[in-house]
Amino acid sequence: MSASPIATDIDFNRDGKQMGYLRLPHSVHRSAYGWIPFPIACIRNGDGPVMFLSAGVHGDEYEGQIALSRLIQDIDVKDVRGRIIILPMANFPAGVAGLRVSPIDDVNLNRSFPGDPAGTPTQIIAHYIETVLMPGTDLHIDMHSGGSSLFYLPCVMPDWAANCVMPQARIAELCRLFGAPYQITFDEDKEGRYISAAATRLGIASIGAELGGGGRLTGAYADIAYWGILRIMRAMGAYAGSLDHAPAPAETLVLPVKANQFAYAMDGGVLEHLVALGDRIADGARVALIHHPETPGLAPTPVQAIKGGLVVCQRAMGRVERGDCIGHWGGPSA
Ligand SMILES: [Zn+2]
Repeated sequence: MSASPIATDIDFNRDGKQMGYLRLPHSVHRSAYGWIPFPIACIRNGDGPVMFLSAGVHGDEYEGQIALSRLIQDIDVKDVRGRIIILPMANFPAGVAGLRVSPIDDVNLNRSFPGDPAGTPTQIIAHYIETVLMPGTDLHIDMHSGGSSLFYLPCVMPDWAANCVMPQARIAELCRLFGAPYQITFDEDKEGRYISAAATRLGIASIGAELGGGGRLTGAYADIAYWGILRIMRAMGAYAGSLDHAPAPAETLVLPVKANQFAYAMDGGVLEHLVALGDRIADGARVALIHHPETPGLAPTPVQAIKGGLVVCQRAMGRVERGDCIGHWGGPSA
């Protein structure tokens, strides 16, 4: 593969707090010699742990973008040991458009790894993340939400593979320090195209989070991310600043999520949830109705859970099409 076309004024090996942009050349009608400005910060103070923090992999997920932007402003370089790279709007064109995927190429960054330096802008940034920003990292932290279509209770997500340098018990402890009330784990393909899979390929442990969504910012969930990341960095020895003003972390309930704990619309219509976030539901529970206002006389279609569990995620939009996820749950059934 050729080298990345991305350039930056940031020197990742220099001490101090540097804030600037990754410049991805993009020649279009309104800007012949222009570049796409991906915001980035590097805070370094000598030798120590190497952290990589990302958010905005999906542009319509705001809690992490705000938490990382606050960390860039607030972290004093004298409190840092080692290096923290912060990428708050990983898919910048999607972020400024408030969309899950980039409006330039319609590509989902979290399905684009390992990327392609000769590909579309989203494929180019994926390649840069995996080959330039991520190597040498001791821990990757990546913030998500449910985006426009889903809403999540605050959930931390460990991602650990057998080749990770960090022991599994250590990442479990760091996830607990994040302080979200729930921890979810999915059975997914570790060789996949997610940013967490990029970390896994490099032997790097990765902690993700799903925090809110519904196309809006939930400030309290951005606070969870802000303090959770600082607690983790302090435990890693990467941050020596005071956490005297930090709230106590929530007790974390661990909820494994299985494929039969997702519910899908099998008909188009208007979705009515019959259960609420935080409810613990039974196997076979009726979780939703899909109404059919376009067909007079047609009764609503019920949606049943296969296996029950604690409801952590629900669709935030009213209209559904066949195939849409209307929510998922985790952990034991009621
Ligand atoms: Zn996301």
